[in-house]
Amino acid sequence: MIRYHIVTIFPGMFDSYINESIFKRAQKNKIVSVHTYDLRAFTKDKHRKVDDRPFGGGPGMVLAVQPVFDAVKRIKTPAVKKRKNRVILFSTRGKRLDGAVGRRLAKYDDLILLCGRYEGVDERVAEHIADEEISIGDYVLSGGEIPALVLMEAVSRQIPGFLGKEESLEEVNGSFPTYTRPEVFSPAKGKKWTVPSVLTSGDHKKIAEWRKKIDGSGKDRL
Ligand code: SAH
Repeated sequence: MIRYHIVTIFPGMFDSYINESIFKRAQKNKIVSVHTYDLRAFTKDKHRKVDDRPFGGGPGMVLAVQPVFDAVKRIKTPAVKKRKNRVILFSTRGKRLDGAVGRRLAKYDDLILLCGRYEGVDERVAEHIADEEISIGDYVLSGGEIPALVLMEAVSRQIPGFLGKEESLEEVNGSFPTYTRPEVFSPAKGKKWTVPSVLTSGDHKKIAEWRKKIDGSGKDRL
C-alpha cells in the first residue's frame, strides 16, 4: 500500500477527486491511502499566514519554510521513518514526470507531496526538506495540487490491483485507438463514420498486427 501525504493550503480541492471512481475503490481495498494536511494548521502566526514577500523584491508572495518544515516533521512519524519514504516538492524547475518516474516512485511506502502556491516556495524547502523536485510539464500552473493528483495517478496505476477490472497498463500494453458500438455512426444524413474493418473481422491475429503497427512501440499484446 502507498500512503500519500499531501501538504497544501487547499486540502478541500482533493476531496471530490479522491472520493470517486478508482481512487475511492483503491482506498477501500487498502491499495492506497490519501491524507491531506492543511499547511495553515502549522503556522505559528496568529493570522495563520503561510506566505511572505520575497527577499530581493519582485512580485507576488512566497510560501514560507517554517510551516512546511513543521508539517513534514509531523508527517514523518517513527512509523513513516521506518518505512521507505520520499518527500517531493512540485516545482516548474523539477524533473519531468514520466512513466519511468511513476514506476520508480511506486516502490515507496509513503510519498509526502508538497504543493507550492503563489510565486513558489522558499528555496530552503528544496535545499533541505525535499528529496526531489518534480514538474509535470513545461507550463506554469497556479499551484501544486493538480500536479499532486497527476503524480498520484501515474504512480498508483503501477500498483497491482489499483486499476481493478480495467487493468490495462498502457505502458506495458502499448497504446492504440479503440472504438465501440455502433459500427457505423451517422452524424448527419448521408454521412457515415465507420470503424476500421479489421477490428470487426474477428481475426485476432490480424487485429493484434494492426494494433502493433498503429502503436509503433513494437510491443506484442493480446
Ligand atoms: N514562479 C514560479 C511558478 C510558481 S507556480 C516559477 O516561475 O517557476 C506556483 C506553484 O505551482 C509552484 O510552486 C509549484 O508547486 C506549482 N506548479 C506550477 N506549475 C507546475 C508544473 N508544471 N509542475 C509542477 N508544479 C507546478
